[in-house]
Amino acid sequence: MATLFISDLHLSPSQRPAVVDLFLGFLSKTASQAEALYILGDFFEYWIGDEAVFDSEFQPIIRGLQHLTQSGVPVSLMHGNRDFLLGQKFAQETGCRLLADPTLIDLYGYNTLLMHGDTLCTDDIEYQRFRTQVRSQAWVDSFLTRSVVERNALVRDYREMSKNAISAKKPEIMDVNPQAVLEVMKQHQVRHLIHGHTHRPGQHEFPLQGQIARRIVLGDWYEQGSVLHCDNNAWVLENIALNS
Ligand code: MN
Repeated sequence: MATLFISDLHLSPSQRPAVVDLFLGFLSKTASQAEALYILGDFFEYWIGDEAVFDSEFQPIIRGLQHLTQSGVPVSLMHGNRDFLLGQKFAQETGCRLLADPTLIDLYGYNTLLMHGDTLCTDDIEYQRFRTQVRSQAWVDSFLTRSVVERNALVRDYREMSKNAISAKKPEIMDVNPQAVLEVMKQHQVRHLIHGHTHRPGQHEFPLQGQIARRIVLGDWYEQGSVLHCDNNAWVLENIALNS
């Protein structure tokens, strides 16, 4: 039995229906056999509030998660930068547990830190400023009092701004800052870190306080799926083909 980690699916039934199908297939085939499933943020392309989108195109995804948790596979979900408004109603309906970012778990004997990853991108000062703003209670409260139409319009504006900002930035600015990685790992006394967000899947080994530390970056689900399988023997980052 394995523990599975995924992130950055950016599920959008209207824009990328094939990825939703890939995810639903993954739930019924792979995840149903797992010991646990962790979703480390940006599960949805965007989420404008639980009550706004419940009876919508997202229903098959909600039902798929509900089916999995009811069959006895625990599913834990961390917020990403695009779906940080996923709330208690979503958690109750799906049976998922919401995780704080970061969260420390014992993964087959290894203390492992789980993060979405955006807070590690400290070189992107403009993004960090934006993040602080939209994560404030005042911003969230004001956003959630708006109508669904207004919320969707605001999200579109933000995405347009973000696209323009990203195209103007050097790629390395949007990767994790190595010092920020070392600091958070030291602070939590771990040698294993799993995160997503950067869409740069890989496994990195580096020295940390005289020992080898490991950072595993999950991939996005744009052109394929990306799943980290962990069990007692090995931790393996795998792709799932979109037409599987
Ligand atoms: Mn992200």
